[in-house]
Amino acid sequence: MTDHPVSLSGGCQCGAVRFRVGAVGRASICHCRMCQKAFGSFFGPLVTVSDLTWTRGRPKRFWSSNLVQRGFCAECGTPLTFEHPAGVELAIGAFDDPSAVPPTIQVSREERLPFFDGLPGLPLKPGHEAALFLATVVSRQHPDYDTAIWPPEEPTDD
Ligand SMILES: [Zn+2]
Ligand SMILES: [Zn+2]
Repeated sequence: MTDHPVSLSGGCQCGAVRFRVGAVGRASICHCRMCQKAFGSFFGPLVTVSDLTWTRGRPKRFWSSNLVQRGFCAECGTPLTFEHPAGVELAIGAFDDPSAVPPTIQVSREERLPFFDGLPGLPLKPGHEAALFLATVVSRQHPDYDTAIWPPEEPTDD
């Protein structure tokens, strides 16, 4: 475990589950089929952690094998944990600042999807098209910091 000089908090998309860790260790992306399925993505981004505290709610868990449970938010489905006999790993994208947890190794590389290596070379959609869409979006996602009350209380008329 190496100490990390950043705020190591995070949580699910809807904010029902929040966590804080004391330190992060090995950050990886795992190409195995179980991680692809559990994340609904091309790979699983995971980091070993120590001193994990659930600061709001708790994840629901699914035994994805005889040895591993995977935790996720029961309200919004965000993947959160990979729990195995040697410890717990957290989903890197669930951290409030995932850029502070850069992966350093690839796992199960033999199972990587055949198009994975070409992803950085994909053409880029013009930025102004995305900006036009994003200008119409009203996010209901929990912000990337701890909150005292969530969701925010609706303003009342009285
Ligand atoms: Zn949630
Ligand atoms: Zn995996």
